[in-house]
Amino acid sequence: GQNVIVIVPGANLLLNFEDLKRASDVICKAKVVVCQLEITPSVSLEALKMACASGVKTLFNPAPALADLDPQFYTCSDIFCCNETEAEILTGIPVGNLEDAEKVGRMLLERGCKLVIVTLGAEGCMMISGDKPIPKHVPAGKVRAVDTTGAGDSFVGALAFYLAYYPKLSMEEMIRKSNCVASVSVQAPGTQSSYPYRKDLPQDLF
Ligand code: ADP
Repeated sequence: GQNVIVIVPGANLLLNFEDLKRASDVICKAKVVVCQLEITPSVSLEALKMACASGVKTLFNPAPALADLDPQFYTCSDIFCCNETEAEILTGIPVGNLEDAEKVGRMLLERGCKLVIVTLGAEGCMMISGDKPIPKHVPAGKVRAVDTTGAGDSFVGALAFYLAYYPKLSMEEMIRKSNCVASVSVQAPGTQSSYPYRKDLPQDLF
């Protein structure tokens, strides 16, 4: 049930600053911009800066992790969401439990993040924000994991959805719902959550 990942960047690395310029209207009018590191990091950072400058909410997932991440990624992210492996690469703190995740969260707040989420697989996630620096564990439901590939992407995608469409929900509630969506994605092979097709899902997700 654990994932093994092979990265073939292919066309992703061809995305450049010109492409960003052409998309600037969409980026600057969006409700939320999600970036990670599967395109050239400097291009991702520029997208985050464009969003920040227009007051667009930014959600950053440092995947695949880079030990020498440009520090501006911390200050340009409204929400910085990493998994245990990424957390360790960024901070040097191996994350084996909630306390470790809290240490990571505090360190990333010190680097300038406004809100940090560390996803913890079956344990759900930990969130901590600069406004309220008391770590909060948001557990995931108990499910039978078949294939966890894409669980983090499913979590981040769901969180972006709630930020864009349900901005009045509390952050804790958005995270609880995102855990729930991600926990659906691990119950079937592959990275599709097959979410819309399942009739046995909690109806309060929307
Ligand atoms: P990644 O896919 O980046 O390694 P995680 O393994 O931390 O990320 O998983 C992301 C989210 O997916 C978790 O926060 C949780 O909501 C959900 N999840 C992952 N594994 C499980 C599991 N075994 N049971 C329930 N939920 C899970």
